[in-house]
Amino acid sequence: MLLALYHDFQSGRMAHATLLSGESGIGKKTVARLLAQGLLCRSEGERPCGACRDCRRFLARTHPDALFPAPAPREKTIKIDALREMIDALSRHSLEGGARVVLIENAERMTAQAQNCLLKTLEEAEEGTYFLLTCDQESALLPTIRSRCRCIRMQPWSGERVEKALVEKGVPGDRAKALSLYCEGSLGRALAMQEDASYWQARDTVRRSFLSVSRLADLPAAMQALKDQKDNGDRLLDILEQELRALMRARMLQEQDAADDFPALWQNAPPQAIRAVLEAVFAARKQKNANVGWAALSEGLLQTISEEATKWQV
Ligand SMILES: [Zn+2]
Repeated sequence: MLLALYHDFQSGRMAHATLLSGESGIGKKTVARLLAQGLLCRSEGERPCGACRDCRRFLARTHPDALFPAPAPREKTIKIDALREMIDALSRHSLEGGARVVLIENAERMTAQAQNCLLKTLEEAEEGTYFLLTCDQESALLPTIRSRCRCIRMQPWSGERVEKALVEKGVPGDRAKALSLYCEGSLGRALAMQEDASYWQARDTVRRSFLSVSRLADLPAAMQALKDQKDNGDRLLDILEQELRALMRARMLQEQDAADDFPALWQNAPPQAIRAVLEAVFAARKQKNANVGWAALSEGLLQTISEEATKWQV
């Protein structure tokens, strides 16, 4: 789909309204901005060139024919005023005589009123005006808007591609590998996790506790690692779940390379054992919501894990 979009762009046949949707962090805004810049760029060669006057002004957000309806400062939604301002600008002639682009990022933040206002504009826009919208959930937009756009659903990235991109951005190889397993195909999410020191601390705690018990005798040390983590409990359970899911995937797809990233004990864990532990995690989360104390809850979970581990190690 993305290739088709690129082709349309290259051949000068861009749809006049395009909606890019898909999970956050997979590059929708990057693609939308490149397209917007490319539509304004007047280089004879590859577009966007990044060097011409139009490109430079687009990047500095000072191009008179690039409009960015967005939430007002300190507001979360895109209100009708922002759309009215855009319509006002569109009612005048293109200031530079070339294409005009309207880029609406996080289009689902438009209020219903704003969406209706946009709808009218989409119907009446002049030739040479291009609308580019991005959103996480297509369904958050009015069906009437979607039906007037070329809808492109962007897919999550493969783990390999995320890993490669992270390494290119200077992330050390082992971290890039780990992040590619957890980020669910979202480079943006991987980068946010990479920068979050508390995430790595919590992950380390999970590995030193829940993922290191192989028999009952290991419980006291694991309990010790968890004892001051009461306030961090939800996060630890989330990370444990994330780790188990990534491991399950690696085991089911027989990606031994990915499984090797986990503590030795878990590298050969059978999928049914991983599933049993995942269920224990869900149960622990329920207990937590029912105000069961962290010590009792984590001990119960550790016990279940050690019981499962004893089974597959025999
Ligand atoms: Zn250019």
